[in-house]
Amino acid sequence: MPVIPTDPRLTRVYMDANATTPLLPQVVQAMHPYWMEHFGNASSIHLHGQQARRGVDQARETLAEFFNCHDAEVVFNSGGTEGDNTAIFGLLRPGDHFITTAIEHSAVLQAAQRVAERGVEVTYVAPLASGLIDPAAIREALRPQTRLISVMLANNETGVIQPVEQIGKIAAEVGAFFHIDAVQAAGKICIDVRKIGCHLLSISGHKMHAPKGIGAMYVRRGTPVESLLVGGSHERRRRAGTENVAGIVGMGKAAELAMKSLEDGTIERVAALRDRLEREILQLPGSGVNGMGCDGNPVARAANTTNIWFDHVEGEALVIALDLKGVAVSGGSACHSGATEPSHVLMAMGLDKTRARASLRFSLLKTATDADVDHVLSVVPQAVQHLRSVSPVEAGTRG
Ligand code: PLP
Repeated sequence: MPVIPTDPRLTRVYMDANATTPLLPQVVQAMHPYWMEHFGNASSIHLHGQQARRGVDQARETLAEFFNCHDAEVVFNSGGTEGDNTAIFGLLRPGDHFITTAIEHSAVLQAAQRVAERGVEVTYVAPLASGLIDPAAIREALRPQTRLISVMLANNETGVIQPVEQIGKIAAEVGAFFHIDAVQAAGKICIDVRKIGCHLLSISGHKMHAPKGIGAMYVRRGTPVESLLVGGSHERRRRAGTENVAGIVGMGKAAELAMKSLEDGTIERVAALRDRLEREILQLPGSGVNGMGCDGNPVARAANTTNIWFDHVEGEALVIALDLKGVAVSGGSACHSGATEPSHVLMAMGLDKTRARASLRFSLLKTATDADVDHVLSVVPQAVQHLRSVSPVEAGTRG
């Protein structure tokens, strides 16, 4: 895609945190020595190796606290895609049955398709219109051969938080393994793997202010998941490859800061900003939130996310119009940007193609300010109204 030249004086507001986040200064600071002085290979026994190993060990302790698990149950990897792939390819064999949902990220859905081609039976549970997965639907999908259930904790497009504790209980009743894609939940809601009762849980560094290309996974002790990568005996033979020491240290620092944010009111502050943004945008006629419950209120969502539809607007056109005004948002999953297919998540929730295409995701950084929201509110209604005024559908309605 060509880079659009824009005025450098333009106020820029980034509201696409679910696509990726910038590194926090403390994360860069923590990582820096591991590129320069402590550059050793964590497997080496000399001083350089010991320094690198210490960085990895400390980060592992922090991640264990973050997940509420034992140090030995933390596996560092390259990110969310690898974690999701590891759970699916590492546990499923021909003849097994796998339950997942229709609203998962493509890292799960594409892996599910691959194992299906190799003789695994896959059931995709559809969400309710609210975007919630009904645990009863997971129960109904169970078969004697069900070996793995994989459900995301927070949806990347709508932010809707799934009832994973209830699903965890169902998995435990029938002795199935339970994997959670917590990529979009990490840093936004408290994750407690013991309470959830899962066997595997994946998170990604770049969604929580650590670098791209680093991630972590909780793997419950004794879970017979085969490693995707073989070679050295790194990560207790669960993930071969020389450790990305600086990335791991950054991940540790990001997890430490995320735990603080969950306790110091940051998340509540972000939720209040999101709510104000949503409330004021919804003043526009012909708009609404994707993720509404039966009571007319949005269901529980990650604090930073809102997904809004605007009738008679093409979402892609609105993304571009807002970008030209300095506002970065997304018309669906960033991993599909450039694709013209409407979001599979919104379609699974029952939206028609037109409304799914007319939907936009606003996802706030935890550093978002009132001024950011003010700026977005100063440009969104105008941009929507302008696009409606030139929309053939709208023109037809008025004409
Ligand atoms: N799972 C979810 C819910 C995501 O939103 C993403 C990325 O957008 C991924 C998995 C993939 O993570 P990564 O980019 O670290 O491979």
